[in-house]
Amino acid sequence: MAKVLRCRDLGLNCPKEMRAESEEELMKLAAQHAEQDHGIAAGTIPPSILAMVKAAIKDEG
Ligand SMILES: [Zn+2]
Repeated sequence: MAKVLRCRDLGLNCPKEMRAESEEELMKLAAQHAEQDHGIAAGTIPPSILAMVKAAIKDEG
């Protein structure tokens, strides 16, 4: 089952949807997207935000 993360679920005004087969892969895509499109360097994201991102990941049914 694919996993999906929608940027807008994180409270951002952004239509980006990311899909991957695992949470680990999805977090990598999210980090790339954050850096490229939101100017947020992945290494600077605090653990509390990472937890929020993980909580926003949904199984695509
Ligand atoms: Zn975004």
